[in-house]
Amino acid sequence: MNGSGDPYDYDVAVVGGGSGGFPAARSSADAGLRTVLIDGGKEVGGLCILRGCMPSKALLHAAEVLHLARKAGTWGLNVGSAGFDFREVMDRISWSISRSCSGGSPRTMSRDGKARLESMTAYS
Ligand SMILES: Cc1cc2nc3c(=O)[nH]c(=O)nc-3n(C[C@H](O)[C@H](O)[C@H](O)COP(=O)(O)OP(=O)(O)OC[C@H]3O[C@@H](n4cnc5c(N)ncnc54)[C@H](O)[C@@H]3O)c2cc1C
Repeated sequence: MNGSGDPYDYDVAVVGGGSGGFPAARSSADAGLRTVLIDGGKEVGGLCILRGCMPSKALLHAAEVLHLARKAGTWGLNVGSAGFDFREVMDRISWSISRSCSGGSPRTMSRDGKARLESMTAYS
């Protein structure tokens, strides 16, 4: 970060790509600053996307859809019998998470598409 123009020359370095770090890095990139987001995990996303808010809310949503389907008769709707396959529910959640993470790739994090924001994971 010394103005030398080498590949590791940034205006801002954000450590941690979770709910706090990711938007901070994106705002920095949107403001035109050459930004690097450094995360020690295998994926950028943090607790919320990878293991917290998103999987728990997706699970709650699946339970709600099942509940509504089972109660559909109350509204005069006939949807047959409603059941679930837990493996498929979890596969759907994993798919949603991976979709969110791929949306955080270096080329898409800068909203103007100029990719001033780069990310590094699993550094040592
Ligand atoms: C089950 C569950 C459900 C939740 N549901 C909600 C909800 O519905 N709504 C809500 O608002 N909040 C919810 N939360 C809380 C939410 O997940 C956290 O508040 C949020 O993730 C905090 O964001 P953060 O960026 O501070 O930290 P984190 O998301 O933990 O991100 C920190 C990042 O920094 C990286 N890191 C850590 N140390 C280093 C290091 N030394 N070097 C490099 N990288 C490092 C980590 O790999 C990680 O990616 C939930 C949490 C849980 C566990």
